[in-house]
Amino acid sequence: MSAEIIDGKAAAATLRARVGELAAGFAADTGRKPGLAVVLVGEDAASAVYVRSKGKATVAAGMASFEHRLPADTAQEDLLALVDRLNADDAVDGILVQLPLPEGLDADAVLQRIDPDKDVDGFHPVNAGRLATGLNGFVPCTPLGCLMLLKERLGDLSGLNAVVIGRSNIVGKPMAALLTQASCTVTVAHSRTRNLAHHLAGADIVVAAVGRANFVSGDWIKPGACVIDVGINRTDDGLVGDVDFASAASVAGAITPVPGGVGPMTIACLLRNTLVAAHRRAGVALAA
Ligand code: NDP
Repeated sequence: MSAEIIDGKAAAATLRARVGELAAGFAADTGRKPGLAVVLVGEDAASAVYVRSKGKATVAAGMASFEHRLPADTAQEDLLALVDRLNADDAVDGILVQLPLPEGLDADAVLQRIDPDKDVDGFHPVNAGRLATGLNGFVPCTPLGCLMLLKERLGDLSGLNAVVIGRSNIVGKPMAALLTQASCTVTVAHSRTRNLAHHLAGADIVVAAVGRANFVSGDWIKPGACVIDVGINRTDDGLVGDVDFASAASVAGAITPVPGGVGPMTIACLLRNTLVAAHRRAGVALAA
């Protein structure tokens, strides 16, 4: 193995500690803690685990956590009414509706109901538009975490060739927008891409967000490339990423493991976005 293993847990711990310091400063200045409301509808086991860890991390960072659990048969208008209440609640700076929603509920309508200035997941079309046009908004947490790991490892990204595999609204598209903003030359690959290996051969940066276990083979990777594996796939061998770690690690310059890579950064970025939302709403400047 030659690649440096990028320690997402350590990077996330550093970011969370910094967010904690700044949250304490915010509370001292304004007399209230930054607040994050998380809405969980239904009994999905994985979602319940995510919501619990988000709540714990929020409290650990010195912020207020408001958890709203609704039954799976909640009506659309009741869910929208809760979002309206959270939009109007001054103690709430960030609102996150855990996806997926149970069948019968319209996730797009719910996400569009969230006040864009409380949309710490960055999924509202207004925030997608802000990101696409270079305005200040909220960037989805997973690609934001990937960008931080890339910058920590590579410094200035300008001029580098980046291939993003996946074009979802929550990972692939915002990742491509962030890398474009960072002056990379960006290729977005997806299920209709022909000859993915050809595109990867010139990639200094690879971000894999496909949702297929061990999909990216090491012999597709350019020697020395920085590989960010977003995938979380449950297999008989446990959790694995979208990149075949053993073969990729023997060629890449640096690679994120799964677990312990991108995952921890996602929650840390959610806390960071909540902190930013609190400062913007209070009209208080945020220290770098
Ligand atoms: P989606 O299923 O929404 O998107 C997957 C993308 O991969 C699509 O754009 C699809 O193309 C593309 N794709 C599928 N097959 C191929 C193929 N053979 N070749 C090239 N591209 C292909 O997934 P998400 O973006 O939501 O998530 C991706 C992965 O990241 C998942 O494993 C998910 O669990 C994980 N994830 C991890 C997070 C974390 O915190 N670490 C957070 C969010 C997601 P097309 O558009 O053509 O269908």
